[in-house]
Amino acid sequence: EWSERMSFSDIPELNQLALSFNKMAASLQNVEKERRELISDLTHELRTPLTIVRGYLEEIADGHIEPSPLIYQQLAKETKRLERLVNDLQELSKVESGYLPIHQKPVNLYPLLTSLVQRFSDQLLEEGPTLQLDSKPDSPLVLADLDRTEQILVNLLGNAIRYTETGTILVKTGNDLNFFWVAVMDTGIGISPEDLPHVFERFWRADRSRSRNSGGTGIGLAITRRLVELQGGRIAVSSRLGEGSTFQFCLPLAK
Ligand code: ADP
Repeated sequence: EWSERMSFSDIPELNQLALSFNKMAASLQNVEKERRELISDLTHELRTPLTIVRGYLEEIADGHIEPSPLIYQQLAKETKRLERLVNDLQELSKVESGYLPIHQKPVNLYPLLTSLVQRFSDQLLEEGPTLQLDSKPDSPLVLADLDRTEQILVNLLGNAIRYTETGTILVKTGNDLNFFWVAVMDTGIGISPEDLPHVFERFWRADRSRSRNSGGTGIGLAITRRLVELQGGRIAVSSRLGEGSTFQFCLPLAK
């Protein structure tokens, strides 16, 4: 007689199972939503440069404009953008799929930091910002993949330079008991409090039109964060609009 009144929810195991299935379904829906958003973002990103290139080519073909060095420069610029986008996407797909091999070993990051600061300083213009390193040659050993760490620093330094007109970009290091940290501090345009939580999202750019002119794809920081996390580290940002930004990441110390 009691069995007729019995429902699934009276059996704790089944109840538990139903809950897990619901959770699984919800997370699959999320994956599907993310996938759709990714494709829609991608389409948008690819369409803009393609439209510009096609527009110029058609105008030239129809005899409406004369091909000039300026036009070829525009075409080259948009083509480069497409190339960067494809390269960044390939990199992003590698870090997100987990197929990127990471080879961590105990290293001193100081030589990498000095050579990068030197390399970027050589590219800086007279009227632009200056680059400084505040770190010690006998830094503690870090458990890091040097190539991936170089990629992280190249992205952060590239951004700092791209978004800073004058002042100083300072690369500073330090450590606590478990982690070694590197901070890239700039005196650039800064990021508003509303924008700050989004900077590590893929395809996100503050003020899309302005960033597009600076050649950004909005993928760099998404890759950067994954590269830090794949090495067991963390990355954070703090910023004040109009004053500058600090991107700081840490990697585990080699014990
Ligand atoms: P992008 O290729 O557009 O630079 P990122 O993922 O590297 O893509 O950065 C995302 C956005 O975050 C940038 O478009 C820019 O709006 C903002 N941003 C990143 N770094 C800085 C910085 N140092 N100063 C100000 N804004 C920054």
